[in-house]
Amino acid sequence: MHLKRLDIVGFKSFANRTELEFVPGVTAVVGPNGSGKSNVTDGMRWVLGEQSAKSLRGASMQDVIFSGSDSRKPVGYCEVAITFDNNDQRLGIDYAEVTVARRVYRSGESEYYINKQACRLRDITELFMDTGIGKEAYSMIGQGRIDEILSTKSEDRRVIFEEAAGIVKYKSRKREAEKKLDASDQNLSRIQDLVSELE
Ligand code: ATP
Repeated sequence: MHLKRLDIVGFKSFANRTELEFVPGVTAVVGPNGSGKSNVTDGMRWVLGEQSAKSLRGASMQDVIFSGSDSRKPVGYCEVAITFDNNDQRLGIDYAEVTVARRVYRSGESEYYINKQACRLRDITELFMDTGIGKEAYSMIGQGRIDEILSTKSEDRRVIFEEAAGIVKYKSRKREAEKKLDASDQNLSRIQDLVSELE
């Protein structure tokens, strides 16, 4: 699996539709300070579900929408689409190419898509679980992240190893199952109360 393409429109400094093609091997993004290099990786994290405006270097989620410049008016929505080659089927869906997209409007409405089908954020999170790809996953090492990985608490480092070992999805499913069990337990005890009232 490799990153093939990133399509950006209206996101941060990318007012115009911009397509970035990534061929296998190393790709370097170069440019003067403030030209939008970090906005490219912000776009990748955003489309993979980043929900924290602060970690995208903004105050609110609407700050990711192009806010205008001397020569251009602000735009009403932004969209980022990220495309992976999935010939090795590392992503558990039956497509040779997988495109995940996210769109947000100034009104706050937000939409997610997997291969053009509307989906929930949760579907995207589950799709990438245990692949190393994701807003927090180890495939994206931001400035300062290496120090964090080396110096942080062992519990935090464990999360990285668990993702690499491919057990995150099982832990997540276990949590879901435990929640359902709890809810069923509560329902059962409510029913038992009702039964004893009727007896
Ligand atoms: P450096 O090399 O200094 O780290 P960089 O190339 O990584 O810089 P970025 O931080 O990606 O640059 O981009 C910063 C630019 O993006 C700034 O000029 C900022 O005005 C612009 N920018 C960020 N958000 C928006 C927005 N919502 N609308 C318009 N421009 C934006």
